[in-house]
Amino acid sequence: MNKSQSHIDKIGWQFDNTYTKLPDNMFSKLSPIPVEAPEVVIFNHTLSKEMGLDFSNINNEDLALIFSGNLLPKGSETIAQAYAGHQFGHFTMLGDGRAIVIGEHISKNNKRFDIQFKGSGKTPYSRNADGRAALGPMLREYIVSEAMHDLGIPTTRSLAVVKTGETVMRETPLQGAILTRVASSHIRVGTFQYTVFSKDKNDLKIFFDYTIKRHYPHIKNSKNPAIELLKIVIEKQIKLVTDWMRVGFIHGVMNTDNMAISGETIDYGPCAFMDTYDPETVFSSIDYHGRYAYFNQPSITRWNLERFAESLVPLIDDNKDKAVEIATEIINSFAEKYKKNWFEMMQKKLGLIGEESKDENLIIDLLSWMHQNKADYTNTFCFLMNENIQENKIYQNQEFISWKNQWQERLKLHNNSPEKSLKLMRLANPLVIPRNHKVEEALSAATNNNDLTKIRKLLKVLQNPYKNNSEIADYQYAPPPSNEKYKTFCGT
Ligand code: AMP
Ligand code: MG
Repeated sequence: MNKSQSHIDKIGWQFDNTYTKLPDNMFSKLSPIPVEAPEVVIFNHTLSKEMGLDFSNINNEDLALIFSGNLLPKGSETIAQAYAGHQFGHFTMLGDGRAIVIGEHISKNNKRFDIQFKGSGKTPYSRNADGRAALGPMLREYIVSEAMHDLGIPTTRSLAVVKTGETVMRETPLQGAILTRVASSHIRVGTFQYTVFSKDKNDLKIFFDYTIKRHYPHIKNSKNPAIELLKIVIEKQIKLVTDWMRVGFIHGVMNTDNMAISGETIDYGPCAFMDTYDPETVFSSIDYHGRYAYFNQPSITRWNLERFAESLVPLIDDNKDKAVEIATEIINSFAEKYKKNWFEMMQKKLGLIGEESKDENLIIDLLSWMHQNKADYTNTFCFLMNENIQENKIYQNQEFISWKNQWQERLKLHNNSPEKSLKLMRLANPLVIPRNHKVEEALSAATNNNDLTKIRKLLKVLQNPYKNNSEIADYQYAPPPSNEKYKTFCGT
């Protein structure tokens, strides 16, 4: 054995692959297609440590071989997963068209993670596309997913981005890249939808049991595990979308194949954070009708959960009508539950302690003012926390001052102190988010000039989004006024 191989064997991969034991039609076994000249662009040392992996003795060449899929670790079993999904409301058979799960790694604290290469070449699910990914979008997923994690929002993570040394053809030729995505699983609403269409009627039950064992083993022996799973996933997704609303995140492509049963944010394509508060904000260039606009996200979450509930119907009750009735009742609880979560979240953003009948109006009045006056979403809450944001002329507006007076009177109720409110607000309001112009600036330096310093700095600043320090000021500015609306592309 050569020296490099012995180091590679000591990385600490602990593969325990269970997905490959599912029925054959749930996945296709195949290897990533080797790439020409792999080169590491960025590697997440913190995450690798959290996963119990040790790359300290691996040189950059070997790191590139490993994270391009050119050199697979022992114990890996490489598969592309099959799934279906409603894309912009239309049902389609899909699957990993440009991704390969290389295995399930068990970390030191016994957590199971899918290790997935995104951009690893054609699979049986690629349809007419090339199975590859471009450097910009993969770095974008790396930045935004790590930022989400640091914001305390459930998400898949990013372990590495490797350039392939190959060109991918999009509108222009671009550098190819592979992202290593780490997820508690890649089980999607769309994976359930897929099993319902399977020729073998047992597949749904087998996959359901698998999902419960993997994510929610405590409900296995409950009276009706299918009902329990539906309730848990509703709760997780409400929590997730409430968090997105809290920080102004717009996922951009909330198709049912991009909704994970684990409750993690998954599939960072055309996502972006809102600067100016406008509930109708859409960034994605293909979202012509605003289906996935900021304020539509909760109702789309519900719509996707309805599709999930439909898939579970055969497992809820043998009597279809009864099953549908039960599922409908559970789904109908969404609106009230979401509203409660959203309201409590907004109360925290404003440091409101206790409950007052006027709270809802107070919240809505602020949002309307922000909308009408084109105020920056993140910075308005920073201003209310007395965080020194530079551009604050807008807050001298009379209407705002009178709202602020009302708010300050309200804060005094319930035996409250300003310190208590501020403490609450500090936990709910990030001081810094991955602003689009900062992300673009960093990506452009990386993709055009091979300069990673801006990405590294951005990632560092985003590591502590709730704490003030001298480095963040530059990252708090709203984007320079521009007539051109920011647009994101699907990252394919
Ligand atoms: P996404 O928009 O990333 O959620 O992808 C939707 C579907 O298109 C999934 O089945 C992907 O695997 C597939 N897909 C996206 N990009 C590519 C590509 N470059 N090559 C093959 N399949 C792709
Ligand atoms: Mg997807």
